[in-house]
Amino acid sequence: MIDTAVEQMLLKDTRSYVIPADVVANVTASNTLEHALMVLSKVGYNRIPVLAADDHLQGMISLAAITDKLLQVPGAAVDQLSHYKVADVMSPVGHWVNDPKKLETILNYLVDDPFIPLVDEDQVFQGIITRRELLKRINYLAHNLHVNYDVTPKLTTEASLHSSSHA
Ligand code: AMP
Repeated sequence: MIDTAVEQMLLKDTRSYVIPADVVANVTASNTLEHALMVLSKVGYNRIPVLAADDHLQGMISLAAITDKLLQVPGAAVDQLSHYKVADVMSPVGHWVNDPKKLETILNYLVDDPFIPLVDEDQVFQGIITRRELLKRINYLAHNLHVNYDVTPKLTTEASLHSSSHA
């Protein structure tokens, strides 16, 4: 369980670590792989969400998956990617959260994933929580914990034995 003080400070402004849907690069399952490659190259990310027309989260598309497909194409010609769809190579969404306050879950997921999609109760995409944004929040916590809380070390048994031997 996360310490209450830490949780309160990290959750102070959850919007600060959610990148809202309208600024998250995405593609649809019916887009061609050529289009997806262009989007990924333009934004410079390795992986972005795949959304349905009604903004439901459908999957993930990665540069690695497109490259894999490209290597199966005769001559590995990039223009051949226009014959394939995002749906052919997208991967299922492994982890997601439906509440940006689920800190324990988010922290656990972010150990392995660079970002976690945020959806509402109907699985409609709301944005992403990235490792970078949460690390900024943790950086703030590391520098400001003492501003809001008294942080004093507990006397460990060893330390108390040490101090009593000098008494
Ligand atoms: P960062 O922690 O900023 O490096 O982001 C981690 C990952 O989140 C990136 O590699 C992308 O896969 C994804 N990501 C971050 N920002 C965006 C964005 N604006 N649009 C789409 N994907 C993003």
